[in-house]
Amino acid sequence: MTDGCMFCRIVARESPADIVYEDDEVLAFKDLYPKAPVHLLIVPKRHIVSLATAETGDALVLGRCLLAARVLGEQTGYAERGYRVTCNCGPEGGQVVYHLHLHFIAGRR
Ligand code: AMP
Ligand code: ZN
Repeated sequence: MTDGCMFCRIVARESPADIVYEDDEVLAFKDLYPKAPVHLLIVPKRHIVSLATAETGDALVLGRCLLAARVLGEQTGYAERGYRVTCNCGPEGGQVVYHLHLHFIAGRR
């Protein structure tokens, strides 16, 4: 757990979140300010700052995050219609929270 990190606090259940998926490495919860009918965030439980600082040793958990997106597609009923998975990286990439996360966005064309 990294001090002052909101997503680490959610992983540790020290801050509330509407959790929609969990496994040993990954947590997913509803975005607090959804920008689409379905807007979820997928985070590695272990603190990784950003895609820009990810290392080879993070490859497995990053793959697990993508596979969690697949599960969320099935859970939310959007597997067939489709959805968007994005990762904002760094200041000009629009990253606000510096605990790596994927946005899972569905229901908006
Ligand atoms: P990014 O701009 O990629 O860093 O995205 C951060 C996202 O986290 C934004 O879409 C916020 O709405 C969302 N967010 C910030 N704090 C929380 C929180 N406590 N619980 C759920 N989502 C949050
Ligand atoms: Zn963190």
